[in-house]
This record gives sequence, structure tokens and C-alpha cells, in this order.
Amino acid sequence: MNIIILGPQGSGKGTQAKLLAKKLDLLLFETGKFLRELAKTDKSIDERINKRGELLPDEEVFSLVSNHLNEKAPTAKNILLDGYPRSVKQYELLEDWLKQKDAKIDKAILLEISEKESIRRLSARRTCNKCGQIYNLITNLPPADGCPCGGSLTQREDDMPESIKKRLAAYNKVTKPLVKRLESQGILEKVDGERPIETIFKDILSRTGENINAKK
Ligand code: AMP
Repeated sequence: MNIIILGPQGSGKGTQAKLLAKKLDLLLFETGKFLRELAKTDKSIDERINKRGELLPDEEVFSLVSNHLNEKAPTAKNILLDGYPRSVKQYELLEDWLKQKDAKIDKAILLEISEKESIRRLSARRTCNKCGQIYNLITNLPPADGCPCGGSLTQREDDMPESIKKRLAAYNKVTKPLVKRLESQGILEKVDGERPIETIFKDILSRTGENINAKK
């Protein structure tokens, strides 16, 4: 089964995607993480995603994503995509790529949170600069003496107030039409993202229709 997970910034997509991929044994593709890795050696990507908090153009991001997936998941089966697609165009490009491999998106999980909650969570997000562990000063506190690996906690450049506003505006303008498209295809599952992590995860699992007892 192929799944996409979407939702506003700070909705907990990344956390749920990791849990789900492990449970259902899916290949997890984390778009934001993948692009931030590329940004370390590509100044143009760094400028646009980290400094300006912009979405990359659809064709450009599709080309990067599909090249990676062609290598890691050539049969296009059992993939969980977190953060791609974010627009109708990105979805159409993905659908074409999947069609060529006789595959499709089976489910789209939408994590819903209010804009107020999104801003609150993103402003409190901190990442360890050594091991990459993500903490939240409100919902997932780091240990009192910092990350156990000894790294220091930093705030993502695109989690600063101006970038957060831009990213949420892009979500409303570009991603909401995609949500409508997925709904009209009957593959969208809307999940309340303002509940405890474990409760949300159980809810998501029940919507996938997978026999979870048969899996890890
Ligand atoms: P995220 O960690 O998911 O918030 O992604 C970090 C940043 O990477 C976003 O703010 C965008 O600048 C860029 N990005 C991630 N996914 C996409 C996408 N599907 N299309 C275009 N840009 C993206």
C-alpha cells in the first residue's frame, strides 16, 4: 500500500509518519529532511527553503523526489510519503510516475490542527544539531541537561515567526486545493491532530485498513 501524509506545519506529520512506516513496514520518504540534507551542499536550495521559507517549484521538487524514489523504491510499492505532494501539480506528477509502474496512492492521511496551534508548536520546536532528535518546549520537553547525545538544541531557521507565516500561507493557498482533490477521489482520511500522539496513531492505523496484528 502507498500512503501520503499531509497537514499544516507542526501538525505532527513527521512523528506519525515514522510510527506508521515502522508499523506497516513501509519505505519512509521525508521530503523536508531530504531537502534540508541537499541544502547543506546546494546554496540555492538552502536560500529558498531555509532562509526564505519558500516551497520549491513543483517540477524541480518532483524531479528530485522521483530520482530518489526510482533508486530506493523502483517498483513504487509500499511507500509512505511525508511532505510530498504539497500541491495539485505535484500530485499529478506523482500519479503519472506511479501509473507507469502500475501503482497508485491508496490512502491520504490529513492531520488537522488549527493555525493558532501550528504557530504555537513551531515556535517551540527545537532540534539537536548532533543527532537530529526533535523536541518541543511545550509538548515534548528535552531532558533538563540537554540532548543525551551531548549535542546542542537549535531552532530551525524556517521556524522563525516570519517564515512560519509564509509557510502557513503557502499551505492555505497551495495544499488546500490538493486536499479537495484527494477528498473527491475518496482516498482522504481526516484525522484530528490535536490529541496525544498515541491516540492519533491508533486512529490513523484504524483508517489504513491494514491488519495491524499481522504486522510488527
Ligand atoms: P518541512 O520539514 O516538511 O516543513 O519542509 C521544509 C521545507 O522544505 C519547506 O518549508 C519547503 O521550503 C521545502 N519543501 C518540503 N516539501 C516540499 C514540497 N513537497 N514542495 C516544495 N517544497 C518543499
